[in-house]
Amino acid sequence: MKLLSVCLTACLLAAAPAAWARTCAVTIAGNDQMKFDQSTITLAPDCTEVSLTLKHTGKLAANVMGHNWVLSKTADFQAVANAGIRATIADSYLPKNDARVIVHTKVIGGGDSTTIKFPTSKLSKGGAYTFFCSFPGHWAMMKGTLSFG
Ligand code: ZN
Repeated sequence: MKLLSVCLTACLLAAAPAAWARTCAVTIAGNDQMKFDQSTITLAPDCTEVSLTLKHTGKLAANVMGHNWVLSKTADFQAVANAGIRATIADSYLPKNDARVIVHTKVIGGGDSTTIKFPTSKLSKGGAYTFFCSFPGHWAMMKGTLSFG
């Protein structure tokens, strides 16, 4: 009986976060015309986790027309994007271990898709965030704003 009651308490505690956790799904697509299909992403205030899927709806290969989805503070975006030009595709065209990169997907080519999950605890409510593709030359066109809360 004692073991059972311990288990009940532990199980309830373990299950508790699921009651308020909310994963918000976001899907964004990039194409061979070097464009994302949306320029704003809004996360509801009660999202605790984001499941972001990037789709490449074009046909061109990743080394020619690769796309990724990178999130940084809007204040950091320009510097991170510029630093990414000097990186390689293996590093997702991003400076290594750069804390200004909040999250990012890998670089994908036409027909591919990739999904990342991240907690919204990485974001501040009301903060100004910019998402972009860090493939060299793409971020001038492939960028948008993300808001949370
Ligand atoms: Zn791109």
